[in-house]
Amino acid sequence: MKKGIIYCRVSTTEQAEEGMSLQSQERLCKDYASKNDIEVEKVFVERGESAKTVDRTELQKMMRFCKLNDKKYDALLIYKVDRLSRNSTDYGQLRIFFRSCGIEVISITEPFEDNPIGRFMENTMANIAQLDNEIRADRTKAGMVEALKQGRYIFKAPYGYKNIGGRGNSNIVPVKELKPKIRKVFQEISKGYKSQEEVRQYANKIGMKKKNGKKLSKSHFYKMLRNPVYKGYIDVPSMGLNLKGSFEPIVTPKLFNIVQLILDGKAKKLPIYKKINPDFPLRGVLRCAKCGNYLTSNWSQGKYKKYGYYRCTKCSGINLGKYDVEENFIEYLKEIKLKKDVGKLVKEAIILNWKNRTKEIQSKVNLLKKEKRTLRAKQDKVVEKNLNGIYNDKLSKRYIGDLEEKISKIDIELTRYSDPEKDEEKLIKFSVVLLKNMSKAWTKMDEFQQNKFEKFIFPQGLIYKNENFTTPTKPLSVELNEAFEVKNSMMVTPRGIEPLSPG
Ligand SMILES: [Zn+2]
Repeated sequence: MKKGIIYCRVSTTEQAEEGMSLQSQERLCKDYASKNDIEVEKVFVERGESAKTVDRTELQKMMRFCKLNDKKYDALLIYKVDRLSRNSTDYGQLRIFFRSCGIEVISITEPFEDNPIGRFMENTMANIAQLDNEIRADRTKAGMVEALKQGRYIFKAPYGYKNIGGRGNSNIVPVKELKPKIRKVFQEISKGYKSQEEVRQYANKIGMKKKNGKKLSKSHFYKMLRNPVYKGYIDVPSMGLNLKGSFEPIVTPKLFNIVQLILDGKAKKLPIYKKINPDFPLRGVLRCAKCGNYLTSNWSQGKYKKYGYYRCTKCSGINLGKYDVEENFIEYLKEIKLKKDVGKLVKEAIILNWKNRTKEIQSKVNLLKKEKRTLRAKQDKVVEKNLNGIYNDKLSKRYIGDLEEKISKIDIELTRYSDPEKDEEKLIKFSVVLLKNMSKAWTKMDEFQQNKFEKFIFPQGLIYKNENFTTPTKPLSVELNEAFEVKNSMMVTPRGIEPLSPG
């Protein structure tokens, strides 16, 4: 369905004339719209004497509106040509202006082809050089649209692609060595815990460079993340085009859409953001010695430099200097050594723990998938109601959009649980290395791995008091030693690894 706006104008002297009143102008335009499948979204009403363009506030307002809503409307309905302008040159120019916004001016009482006024208008306009250009531009546009409709990307290839083929079969293909790198960058953003700038630095590090060997600039990088070409789409808003291309995409539409949501800030509220802060690797693990609350962290500006702190926001009794506590944590990890036989058991325990977690993750994934199916079913219902005329197009579109957003959020959550096996496998490898040298391994991890690892080793958190770490639960060394003596001890899932008491 086409979208349209209506413009009515009446001067005080015209008020009395029959058929010229504002109400009848508007009503007749609306009748015409409904007969011609045009959905009217806005009506502009001008009251006043002047027919001069510059003096008409509503006309000015409408022109700004059309410019702002570029290509969103298809038709401007007027009762007669003279409602818009009494001067044919003026009229022609206005018509060109509206056409540049994608809008065709339609005089509901004067179809151009069939009456003298129409022909006069056509001739006048034909003499306007600007219009001539416009028409020629339109013709080129039509040729381009044809190529694009075949799914061919006929513009200059964006970063990571190259142009191939010639006239009539030109298209783009991914550059082999850049394809996996671009995909990796989208994946990094989709995880949601790294800033765009951090990922850009990373991109530079893995050798994503421009042809001239220069680094990708911030704006270039941002444009890349926003360009639907990477999910295989041709999107040319200025031409009103958005369609699936016939070239090879670099990322899946799902991954691309998740990245868009993250860039929009719509996915920011996910709990993962709260837990992980690259500046404070112990956040989410350290707990208050007084009340047991998990500590938060912040930077505080000193006279010469910034100081980091882990704090308790609940009882405000705890304020730990970042560097002290982290240094001590590394020392603490160094102390953790396990007896050989217990070490073997711990490895078994980690695997058992892993299996349990995989089960947990699987049930969570199933739940999310079920939720997704429910939302899809709701979308189908909206479509049905729309087809039955219960919901209008606008309402349906909004409902479907809302539901789509919810679905995308579920997709984001689902990617967090993707490939649990791969992740856990890595974790086990880490654990083995860790049994040999925990502190060294920890310092080598990135913040995400660190957090995961800390959670794994200290699922109940850690308390730091008098330069010593303790855990709220029974030390595992005791638990493990007990378990080692009990026959079916393997069924017990250990809580983590604790230092053995000396001797
Ligand atoms: Zn506290």
